[in-house]
Amino acid sequence: MICDNTRVTGTTLPPGVTRVLREGGIVKFGLRLADGAEVESVVVPMRERAPGRQRASLCVSTQVGCRMGCAFCATARMGLGRNLEPEEILAQVSAARSLGAKPTNITFMGMGEPLDNFDRWAASVRLLIDLPAGLAVAMNRMTVSTCGLVPGLDRLAELNWRRVTLAVSLNAPNDAIRSRLMPVNRKHPMAELKEALLRHPLRRGVFMAEYVLLAGINDRPEHADELAEYLAPFRAAVNLIPYNGVKGAEGFEPPARAAVELFQGRLRQAGRHAVVRETKGRGIEAACGQLTGSTARPPSSMV
Ligand code: SF4
Repeated sequence: MICDNTRVTGTTLPPGVTRVLREGGIVKFGLRLADGAEVESVVVPMRERAPGRQRASLCVSTQVGCRMGCAFCATARMGLGRNLEPEEILAQVSAARSLGAKPTNITFMGMGEPLDNFDRWAASVRLLIDLPAGLAVAMNRMTVSTCGLVPGLDRLAELNWRRVTLAVSLNAPNDAIRSRLMPVNRKHPMAELKEALLRHPLRRGVFMAEYVLLAGINDRPEHADELAEYLAPFRAAVNLIPYNGVKGAEGFEPPARAAVELFQGRLRQAGRHAVVRETKGRGIEAACGQLTGSTARPPSSMV
């Protein structure tokens, strides 16, 4: 499945790993697959609850590229190359471990839309929980993120995997803005998505609403009010992600700090739990929406 060792500036990387980039504790690596395709994965250190305990989350890819076409996303520019096999999803976990990381949590938020590769993604979850003790990852340490593919959400609901956390990339407070940013919304508008979420067996009744803030497009206070109204029936927590900047994505700018704070404040006023996610790994293009699997960048050092 994975190619032979790749030598980079005199250092041997683990099998299949093409490059490793590090920034402030974040580790991004590329993994070449047997057919030459490449995916990217990101290790993100997590806040430690107990002294001396180290936790890290591994963001894995489920597809080579993505066909969902979100306007602000670097992966979308690749189109869909192909779906990853369950073993190829698992290989990213093995590669992270061989680089010295010990991921305790898995987020299916890398390249691709997991629910667009539903059967293989679900098989990878089963493989992860069935790994030997010490390597296995429990379902309650997994998060799957979707752009709102309603048929996939319904299939997930049938599995009744309540312990897997659901994250939904909303990114807009209404259909007009969302359809502009996310083509999936033209097929499954927000009302349909809301219905799917209402019938979904959510973990503790909660889902994570992901919201990339784009200056002048979806970051106004009235948008926050509209978003709060949309989320009113749910115990959803909102992750606000100031736009990271993506090469080739024209017409998008990062929001002003004041706009981010105002947006967060309005959500909180409405009784909504809202946090601003730090823009981690921006310099190495490891932040949300920046993964591409490109081989164009020069390789860096080994971890
Ligand atoms: S944001 Fe996610 S679903 Fe949308 S194009 Fe990018 S990888 Fe695909």
